[in-house]
Amino acid sequence: MPNYTNNYQLPDYLYQALVANSYDKVPGTLSATGLTKPYRMAELERVHDDEIEIECSDLVYAALGTAVHALVTDHPHPDVQAEKRIIIPLEGLPISITGKPDIIFQKTRIHDIKCSGAYAMQFAKPDWVAQLNIYAWLVRREYDVEVTELVNMLILRDHKKSLTKASATYPPIPIGIINQPIWPDAKTDAFIRERAAGHLACRDAIELPLCTPEERWARETVYAVVSPGRKRSHKNCSSLAEAKQYIARATHKAKSQMTVDIRPGEDTRCIDYCPVNRWCPYYLERYGDIE
Ligand code: SF4
Repeated sequence: MPNYTNNYQLPDYLYQALVANSYDKVPGTLSATGLTKPYRMAELERVHDDEIEIECSDLVYAALGTAVHALVTDHPHPDVQAEKRIIIPLEGLPISITGKPDIIFQKTRIHDIKCSGAYAMQFAKPDWVAQLNIYAWLVRREYDVEVTELVNMLILRDHKKSLTKASATYPPIPIGIINQPIWPDAKTDAFIRERAAGHLACRDAIELPLCTPEERWARETVYAVVSPGRKRSHKNCSSLAEAKQYIARATHKAKSQMTVDIRPGEDTRCIDYCPVNRWCPYYLERYGDIE
């Protein structure tokens, strides 16, 4: 179990509640969220479980999703099935798959409650789609039903009513409902097997596979063509050569004063959102001096 810090001296009752809400692992299983984690991150978490430090205040947003879930279960609805852990052995591999769908509504509709920024309504999150489809895979096997709906129910923590008038795409209320595609069972089964085999292979690996740029939430280096007195760049290029070519071809009156401002890319998740970065060679080599 990780070590939970309380660097901002939150009252002990809040600290205890946040910590209790966060750790829910079942030995001998891979969870729906664990399966979708990057291989390297998941394996480093497994190996360093007792050494990881998590600041309890970082758990507040996750707790908000749990609080809304508790609100629903505190007011029983005849069509809502209470959260229940499902564990299904994965045939042919020495591991079981586990998951605890937040809400099973009318027996066949799976809803997952999350706390998120309003921006999440604009961008597809492949992990969320996979997580819901893994729940569907579990529910089909546990209850022998056809799953008819997969929904991310988002509590939009930064929703601003004032922005609803400014943009037609901004969510009108602080709750976002995203219907996610239901994969054929064979597709989910293949996905689960591939991910489970990948995670298990990491347990014997000498070198762990590097997280992909998407998994690292990598931002590319930008070569911005700028000139004095202008707030915005003339063009953001993906290479120095492209930026120099742009200047060479420019007909703008500021051409002679144009320079290239290199804005280094970075891996946002590695720097700010990876609990095991201090054991990751990639992080240490690239950002080791950041503290
Ligand atoms: S620091 Fe980056 S590359 Fe290393 S495990 Fe974490 S997310 Fe992956």
